[in-house]
Amino acid sequence: MSRTATIAEPNPPTAEHFDVLIVGAGISGVGGAYHLTQQCPETSFVILETFESFGGTWLTHTYPGIRSDSDLYTFGYRFKPWTGAPIATAAEILKYMGEVIDDNDLGRHIRYGHHIAAASWSSAANRWTIEGTRTGTGEAFAITADFLWMCQGYYRHSEGYTPQWAGMERYAGTIVHPQTWPADLDYAGKDVIVIGSGATAATLVPAIAGDCNHVTVLQRSPTYFFTGRNQNELADTLRELEIDETWIHEIVRRKILHDQQMITRLSFEQPEFVAAELINGVKALLPDDYDVATHFTPRYRPWRQRLAFVPDGDLFQGISSGKASMVTDEIETFTERGIRLSSGEELAADIIITATGFNLSVLGDIEFTIDDQPLVFSDTVNYRGMMFTGVPNMLWVFGYFRASWTLRADLIADFVCRLLNHMRAEGATKVTVALRPEDDDMPLLPWIDEENFNPGYLMRGMHLLPKRGDKPEWQHTQDYWTEKVSLPAARLDDGCLVFEAADGGAKRR
Ligand SMILES: Cc1cc2nc3c(=O)[nH]c(=O)nc-3n(C[C@H](O)[C@H](O)[C@H](O)COP(=O)(O)OP(=O)(O)OC[C@H]3O[C@@H](n4cnc5c(N)ncnc54)[C@H](O)[C@@H]3O)c2cc1C
Repeated sequence: MSRTATIAEPNPPTAEHFDVLIVGAGISGVGGAYHLTQQCPETSFVILETFESFGGTWLTHTYPGIRSDSDLYTFGYRFKPWTGAPIATAAEILKYMGEVIDDNDLGRHIRYGHHIAAASWSSAANRWTIEGTRTGTGEAFAITADFLWMCQGYYRHSEGYTPQWAGMERYAGTIVHPQTWPADLDYAGKDVIVIGSGATAATLVPAIAGDCNHVTVLQRSPTYFFTGRNQNELADTLRELEIDETWIHEIVRRKILHDQQMITRLSFEQPEFVAAELINGVKALLPDDYDVATHFTPRYRPWRQRLAFVPDGDLFQGISSGKASMVTDEIETFTERGIRLSSGEELAADIIITATGFNLSVLGDIEFTIDDQPLVFSDTVNYRGMMFTGVPNMLWVFGYFRASWTLRADLIADFVCRLLNHMRAEGATKVTVALRPEDDDMPLLPWIDEENFNPGYLMRGMHLLPKRGDKPEWQHTQDYWTEKVSLPAARLDDGCLVFEAADGGAKRR
């Protein structure tokens, strides 16, 4: 595609135009920009980002202890070696991303403080018009693009999810969601309740427990944790041998992915065995008489939700030392002093932290229209977890639940670049996915199989997500090990992709 490929010019002449517009300067958008410069050097592109800097998730989250729960050998890009400890702080991830931007001169493509509110596709003009606001000045802007690359992540950055519990208004203390952590929150010497026991709680509690009087982790039901040292022995050995960092990155990635594949397979084939191993790992780090059955024995199969990694067992040290404790119960109501539980017990606290998750945001809360008709994503079917039936020239990045997000961001970037290069070579200016005749009777299912994976934000937001079919082309398989082969091999002439040339001729190829 090139700037000259469009067939009409209905937009004001002042609207800037790009071949590709990337939404979001998080790890996906910055990675996408890198791949475009490498694989499609003639493509003009811009990244629009609401925030005043890059990083997305790693910029938004500023609560104490914020860190990755994946290792950075696989959460890092495949093209940029990671040289630190496997689990990284947000600051370390931002530094790494900053180097990618600087080393590849990507900064000149990024427009910060540009919040997108609407995206409209015009068939007459064969392009997207993106409208929004410059956050600094409130000034409106409009940019047109041939292709939209949606790298906006999966949750609303402005606020986290806080359930509405009875009596919340009565509570005299401070309620905080980790996603909007007040920089001046003073928790020193305070009694704190953290509601929820997922990865956020596992990170936050060890980081604040030392300063608080006491931290109570209140969970409705237990979570699986796995622990280990924040160190990769293979990487350390290879470094001792003075192996080049590029090689170390690749070798360590392969080893970690190999091991993860075995664990994933085992967790499907022998879930009881994996569950017992995980629970025993936790038990070993707690006092002998600790009630592991109540607090650390989940009721779901391992991998149905993302496993929370606890580097160096720091959460369990807090529990063992008495600075933190677990309560497994339901909230009946908030009170003036704290929370009353279904058991009748009341927990008093100065601060209540609701580590209760995210609000799903399917496509950056952007209002989409196609030829002035509102686009309802839940009416579409999702092609390979990245394109939507009936939506032209647009691709969506949604990473993996069970493996690092960036593994898929890199794979998808290769696909986008291949698609764009194919279109350029063929003189096609529009690509839309469509069900084929053989898909006519295909059952249309919820986007993700609840049996397979069921985190709260997805279950709450399933009605907003597109449909899935029962064939691999119409699914986000959540399986990196299959997709690392199938996505690069996916044929552009599989019949699902309909290409059109500027003269309007359609062809499935
Ligand atoms: C605390 C936390 C820890 C995590 N740890 C891991 C981990 O260890 N491993 C892992 O694989 N995953 C992890 N995840 C999931 C994580 O979000 C993804 O892995 C990854 O960071 C997502 O990157 P992204 O670029 O796709 O999206 P995001 O990081 O969400 O970035 C999207 C960007 O798009 C911008 N944007 C959105 N809408 C608009 C709009 N309308 N206009 C303009 N800009 C817009 C946002 O401002 C943001 O900067 C974690 C998530 C959280 C919240």
